[in-house]
Amino acid sequence: MLKHIIFLSTLLIAYLPLFAKSNDPLPRIGIAGIGIESSTFSPALSTEAAFTIKRGEQIYTSYPGFMQTGSNVRSRAVWLPAVTARSLPGGAVTREAYETMLGYMLDSLKKNLPYDGLFFDIHGAMSVVGLDDPEGDMITRIRKITGPKTIISTSMDLHGNVSMRLAQQSDLITCYRMAPHEDAQETKQRSVEQLLQRLESGSGKPKYKAWIPVPILLPGEQTSTRIEPAKSLYENVRTAAVKDGVIEAAVWMGYPWADEPRNHGVIMVTGDDKEAVTNAAEELANHFWRVRNEFHFVAPTGNLKECLDKAVSSEKHPFFISDSGDNPTAGGAGDVTWSLQQILARKEFKKPNGPVLMYASIPGPDMIKKALAAGVGGKVKGLVGAEVDSRYAPPLLIEGTVYAIREGDANAGVEAVIQTGSVFVIVTQKRKPYHKEADFTNLKLEPRKAAIVVVKIGYLEPELYNMRADWLLALTPGGVDQDLARLPYKSIQRPMFPVDKNIPEPDLKVRWVKSSDEVAVN
Ligand SMILES: [Zn+2]
Repeated sequence: MLKHIIFLSTLLIAYLPLFAKSNDPLPRIGIAGIGIESSTFSPALSTEAAFTIKRGEQIYTSYPGFMQTGSNVRSRAVWLPAVTARSLPGGAVTREAYETMLGYMLDSLKKNLPYDGLFFDIHGAMSVVGLDDPEGDMITRIRKITGPKTIISTSMDLHGNVSMRLAQQSDLITCYRMAPHEDAQETKQRSVEQLLQRLESGSGKPKYKAWIPVPILLPGEQTSTRIEPAKSLYENVRTAAVKDGVIEAAVWMGYPWADEPRNHGVIMVTGDDKEAVTNAAEELANHFWRVRNEFHFVAPTGNLKECLDKAVSSEKHPFFISDSGDNPTAGGAGDVTWSLQQILARKEFKKPNGPVLMYASIPGPDMIKKALAAGVGGKVKGLVGAEVDSRYAPPLLIEGTVYAIREGDANAGVEAVIQTGSVFVIVTQKRKPYHKEADFTNLKLEPRKAAIVVVKIGYLEPELYNMRADWLLALTPGGVDQDLARLPYKSIQRPMFPVDKNIPEPDLKVRWVKSSDEVAVN
């Protein structure tokens, strides 16, 4: 019997979009969003080519945990996935790329009107050349199409920024509670579940949306939820979110490598009970402010020389060093050569029998051509890096032996490992983050057996973290410099912790956000 019901409902779901009208019992829900984290302190620009654009049913593949065919979530609505676009972090998005991708999305949304709900899946730290608050702009232009009645549920990264405009047009809103973002799917699912529940129960938009700006702007490397004080702060987010009268509670750390007035910490709580929402929001805001001086880097830090000196003399291997200033997954260009130049200049690594150091990674499309021509075991000599960001060091000449080649990587295109002395340099056709053990083993490298592994990264992603015998975070130069005092801020609100000292007690009372019904968008 159950099997028949499932079979029949699958059939019904499959054909519903063909017959769906606005009076259908199942809610009609769109899916849309453009997501990138982009640094305005990097000379890199992101074009449409940097994005993976998904359309229609392809979009379900972004939510493998809860939106697969036949899932409970899929059966509870007429889903109308429009267009999503995602990119690795990078430089600011060109205005042309933004308008083009937004155009695809808005055109697609227009085709399936009307919408009872919309799942707005974004990162929240996109910068667009010549446009402040792109996510606020994007949701406003979506709202012009859907109209005021649609319930928009916004799901974000905790490193995103929440402007008042984004808060007003979002009816439900949340962000990750873990950094590293091990709860990414869980967060998106929660955002969708809350939307479904409000639609199914007929309770509609939340009665109250509280927004509290907190004048704190810190790099993610100081606010990892693996350690205090962020650990307890985010545990309290979970506690606040399940209180009676509260729908959702969230804390955004904001994104420090873009210079906009919206970039700072934010608390948001939504719910139907004014007092419960107020208390939850103000408690979280006070908690965040109270612990501001306790945020520290997730690993001991040093300049690159100090880190290399310690790693070379250490007995713990593999010794990881984060080359953090050019971390491509925070928005760095990923092709700064400064650190690799320092490494290759050191005498310990000049001979093949020196301590094995793996360096991940540096883009070098010309070197890739040479490596492909020479083949594994062949000798190569050529320039790598500094095509995008040459502010700290020029393209770097590498001479060595091709140790491995791998073609067809989704991000890198082609990867080649060039051995020079005891250093194994991973050169890529296009930039790629190295977060997993397989990223190394696919290239015949065994990071567990290396003396030192240097990665363009901030905090270590879980697989690398679990593999490390020791770890230092090198404060290297680049578009996502961890030393915020070195960044030339002009537009963020001041005073801001920790850039400014002696900040007076901020007003951490709730600001009530207008319902999207009350905010005209035309
Ligand atoms: Zn993030």
